[in-house]
Amino acid sequence: MNYSICLMPGDGIGPEIVTQAVRVLDLVGRKFGHTFTYTNVLAGGAAIDAVGEPMPDATVQACKESDAVLLGAVGGPKWDNLPRHLRAETGLLKIRKELNCFANFRPATLFPQLASASYLRPDIVAKGLDVLVVRELTGCVYFGQPKGIVEENGERMGFNTMRYTESEVRRIAKVAFEAARKRGKRLCSVDKANVLDVSQLWRDVVIEVHKDYQDVELSHMYVDNAAMQLVRDPSQFDVIVTGNLFGDILSDAAAAITGSIGMLPSASVGESGPGIYEPIHGSAPDIAGQDKANPLATILSVAMMLRFALGLEAEAAVIEQAVSAVLDKGLRTGDIYNSAQPGLTLVGCTAMGDAVVDALG
Ligand code: NAD
Repeated sequence: MNYSICLMPGDGIGPEIVTQAVRVLDLVGRKFGHTFTYTNVLAGGAAIDAVGEPMPDATVQACKESDAVLLGAVGGPKWDNLPRHLRAETGLLKIRKELNCFANFRPATLFPQLASASYLRPDIVAKGLDVLVVRELTGCVYFGQPKGIVEENGERMGFNTMRYTESEVRRIAKVAFEAARKRGKRLCSVDKANVLDVSQLWRDVVIEVHKDYQDVELSHMYVDNAAMQLVRDPSQFDVIVTGNLFGDILSDAAAAITGSIGMLPSASVGESGPGIYEPIHGSAPDIAGQDKANPLATILSVAMMLRFALGLEAEAAVIEQAVSAVLDKGLRTGDIYNSAQPGLTLVGCTAMGDAVVDALG
């Protein structure tokens, strides 16, 4: 089969990690008889410098015509002080909206080889850390109108609107129930229904959708408690579904407790059309261009892309096994290196890519 992939390397370490991920993808293609055709597109600061905007229409069009989008990371200090419509983040919101990628999947999984990297106590880590956060991505307070900063009673007042329609909640709830069905069959819906009307609607609709998924156990948790429980005992969670704002914060917390930001992939998908696959970390300007970045989150994002976008389960699994084999060998980039642990070898981005390619054989 021939698949067309849009490559959006972006800024900072983006080009370095995407280069390694493409090497892995090409090799898997050769092994399994697939051809991947790439279109390189501009996004983020690189696009601002080249054409004056963070998500050019040409990029959006190319993404729409592809089977999947592989994104490195965008942004950096050079572009931080531009007006909001020219910020790299604004470009990301645009491409998610244009591709109707309303569901963001972030698995927070701890490879056992990296247990010592977790910020949690060893007895908590020993219980297991394998949570999937499903975050709604195109609604909520990030997109709600009205919003703005106005003058009121002689002072400035800033406001945004948190809003969800019934259909928006229903479609993300369905996606989350489907995901839970394929995992541990437990779904925790996180809201703030004790205070917010929008959350009460969220909860009511999730309960309605549950009627079609009686094999999945549904629970509800307020977001403040969920933040605490994620740190106290993440093993109690299988799949978490939540809105855009709460999900933004909780998915970062879930990722952070693994202690390895350079290891975690993500997928943003819609009901149909291409999805966006990317590491959860940013463009790491502090280490850009130094061959220090960990490419494994991007390589694992390729595995998610093969599984979710292209339905290539076996191909995805060999990548995940290769990453695990490389960790078994003790190879570590700086972000996951522990000098106190014997038997580890500190390697750079390219050498880590080499090792995964070798492990794939
Ligand atoms: P960051 O994730 O880029 O970096 C945080 C820390 O983690 C840094 O010390 C960095 O060196 C380290 N790190 C991140 N990824 C790593 C990797 N693969 N290997 C080794 N170390 C890694 O977050 P930040 O510093 O807050 O943001 C930097 C820029 O990235 C900002 O402009 C921000 O807006 C942007 N950003 C982009 C995305 C995205 O493209 N989706 C996401 C988050 C942040």
